[in-house]
Amino acid sequence: MTLEQLDTIAPSTPFQVPTAQRWNEANQRTDYDVAIVGGGLVGATLACALKDSGLQVVLLEAKPQSDAVARGQAYHINLSSSRIFEDIGVWDEMHPGANPIDQIHLSDAGDAATVTFVQKDLGTDILGYVAEHRVLLEALRQRLHDCSNVTYLCPAPLVKTIALDDGIELEVLQDGGIQQMQTRLLVAADGVRSPLRQQAGIRTRGWQYWQTCVVAFIKPEKPHHNIAYERFQPAGPFAILPLPNNLCRIVWTAPKAEAEAIMALEEKAFLSALTQRFGEQMGVLELVGDRAVFPTQLMQSDRYVLPRLALIGDAAHCCHPVGGQGVNLGIRDAAALAQILQAAHQQGDDIGSLRVLKRYDRWRRWENVIILGFTDTLNRVFSNSFPPLVVLRRLGLWTLRSVPPAKRIALKLMTGLSGRAPRLAQGERE
Ligand SMILES: Cc1cc2nc3c(=O)[nH]c(=O)nc-3n(C[C@H](O)[C@H](O)[C@H](O)COP(=O)(O)OP(=O)(O)OC[C@H]3O[C@@H](n4cnc5c(N)ncnc54)[C@H](O)[C@@H]3O)c2cc1C
Repeated sequence: MTLEQLDTIAPSTPFQVPTAQRWNEANQRTDYDVAIVGGGLVGATLACALKDSGLQVVLLEAKPQSDAVARGQAYHINLSSSRIFEDIGVWDEMHPGANPIDQIHLSDAGDAATVTFVQKDLGTDILGYVAEHRVLLEALRQRLHDCSNVTYLCPAPLVKTIALDDGIELEVLQDGGIQQMQTRLLVAADGVRSPLRQQAGIRTRGWQYWQTCVVAFIKPEKPHHNIAYERFQPAGPFAILPLPNNLCRIVWTAPKAEAEAIMALEEKAFLSALTQRFGEQMGVLELVGDRAVFPTQLMQSDRYVLPRLALIGDAAHCCHPVGGQGVNLGIRDAAALAQILQAAHQQGDDIGSLRVLKRYDRWRRWENVIILGFTDTLNRVFSNSFPPLVVLRRLGLWTLRSVPPAKRIALKLMTGLSGRAPRLAQGERE
């Protein structure tokens, strides 16, 4: 039986709450309560969030540790995510490598007026952070050593799943051999192409954008003063995010052909185009490392759960990079799912049952739609020279500058402080 048939399976054997990871001698197999497939930021966050949950967890990552950590990306980490990291005990490790955002400057090309967001608009000390992928993932991986109920296998790709009445049997490639294990719940944190989502036959909706994202690290001559810039151009949004050591992350969205041309520019010409796009307030710019490009898309899964299967992070959804929300939605998925599983386990419920998993689906699928819609609307309204839309967005920016409650609502969306916060984002570890 394959995952495609999972939807039709109802558990038929009495449910038992395991107290420890079990070695099934008859079948030479290890049994777990939760198997998380994908040790990226989202899967690793879920594993850490399940520390002390009483559940036996295995985290499987296909790539060798060095490859997985070395990804040259940097993310906007919103306040919801930093609070979740704090509550799962990894923020002290991450914090020195994360740069605070003290101000956000939002502007529209051709309109001199800027909307400036500062901490007092939200009543917080900080508006968010920016950190490199390796800083975040390394801290999560370190934390896994302290999680006695979590087994972390890497490199260990999942190669086969077989649905059983009361769980799923997994075949995992490790050290050149196949390891068998069984789990009551399989969590797909295996990225945007999610083989598990596809095998399970879960359909997705969405589209590829006409734009591509060019990303790079730069070192400006002048201090960045912890300011994040989002500048809307007809070609697409252009962001500069402040990093430690006065580095900045550039996220430059442009139509595909233009992005290819930007990538093909010699370094000197690239830096000159960058200065032209952004202005000269940061002085002379120096490129640090290679430029990279990634496609932009909107994707939402029709459902996040099936019996014994839950999707989290990019496996479940994907949004336009404007506002840097992508990874933050996944971190919140992980915290929400951990909360639901822990509560269900404490009540003696079957954590892999559809009844339990639907609580996660109802909570996160609808909240994510709001952010997916918000980023899509921002991109469409601002990446546009159509005169009525130009008038509309100027009116929108005027409202943000002049009507404090409107500014606060927009800030709450950007910083992840809207919607139902998981307990892990409220300083309440269960
Ligand atoms: C170039 C680029 C730049 C980006 N920049 C930003 C940004 O600035 N801000 C932002 O918010 N988002 C950004 N994103 C998006 C962001 O990277 C994702 O939202 C985030 O990484 C999703 O995390 P994830 O853990 O869900 O998935 P992933 O990071 O894709 O992790 C999935 C993991 O699953 C593993 N895996 C897959 N199949 C298996 C298997 N069968 N067995 C075991 N393991 C498996 C993979 O090896 C991988 O490590 C960017 C994406 C790209 C590609």
